[in-house]
Amino acid sequence: MIEILFLGTGASIPSRERAMPCVAVRCGTDIALFDCGEGSQRQMMVSPFSFMKIKGIFITHMHGDHFLGLPGLLQTMGLSGRKDKLTVCGPKGMSAALDSIFSVCEGNIGYELDIREAEHGLSVEFGGFSVSAFRTDHTAESFGYKLSEKETRGRFNKEKAIKLGLSPGPDFSKLQNSETVKGVTPEMVMGPPRPGCNLVYSGDTSPCGELSDAAAGVDALIHESTFSDRESGLAADHKHSTSVQAAETAKACGCRALFLIHISNRYDNKGEIEEEAKAVFGNTFAPDDMDMYKVSKDSVRRV
Ligand SMILES: [Zn+2]
Ligand SMILES: [Zn+2]
Repeated sequence: MIEILFLGTGASIPSRERAMPCVAVRCGTDIALFDCGEGSQRQMMVSPFSFMKIKGIFITHMHGDHFLGLPGLLQTMGLSGRKDKLTVCGPKGMSAALDSIFSVCEGNIGYELDIREAEHGLSVEFGGFSVSAFRTDHTAESFGYKLSEKETRGRFNKEKAIKLGLSPGPDFSKLQNSETVKGVTPEMVMGPPRPGCNLVYSGDTSPCGELSDAAAGVDALIHESTFSDRESGLAADHKHSTSVQAAETAKACGCRALFLIHISNRYDNKGEIEEEAKAVFGNTFAPDDMDMYKVSKDSVRRV
């Protein structure tokens, strides 16, 4: 099960309703952050997620709406006592940009930054999940990311364990840690391992083959939807996507759910964006800032 928190769902410039792009995904207690627009740390601070639990930050491209919140967030983590290593992945130029900012700002971050330069096929492993990069098609060098939750342990059948003569407490813990107890093997009381969920975060992009390959069969596709269908010419000129193109990708790739973000502030009413996408792909959501969804193999629901 993964939890997706939409911290910022706007595009290019903020509006009263929408902050700059930033999406947090939690697997267990660990968090991956996708893009970090200006103000993301404040959004996170008033959310149920702790920025101290972030294990990796993934920047799609160096346009300011996706990157300018990163230096402030990194600094705040240091001031808040972070000691754990943090992985930050982004395109060429991100490392130099951070070096340049921190060389003129006072203070030392105080923890290790593991900076990775994104390239197509790069994969970064964390405890409960991995994140891989794929190339996308935008006006600057750009990448999308795919998060894959690792397989989790099968369900423990308490009733069966009791029937086999075991008692709650240490016996149960040992079985769940793959030990045999009083002749009862873990296989006798544990269900099969549960497959993890996966998602793709598009960043800014025109529809492209690399994105479709990554999105094949994913549980959640978080796709930019800067323009409505009637402005498809503008979308093509600026290498963005329309809501209908996002929905067509979700449908063609057999995704389970589509989330539309990076909504331009030219749309007062997101209804237009959401409805035209839904007409193509029914399981479409257009989240507002701070909306949270739980995605499991059984359901996708807002919480
Ligand atoms: Zn953008
Ligand atoms: Zn952009």
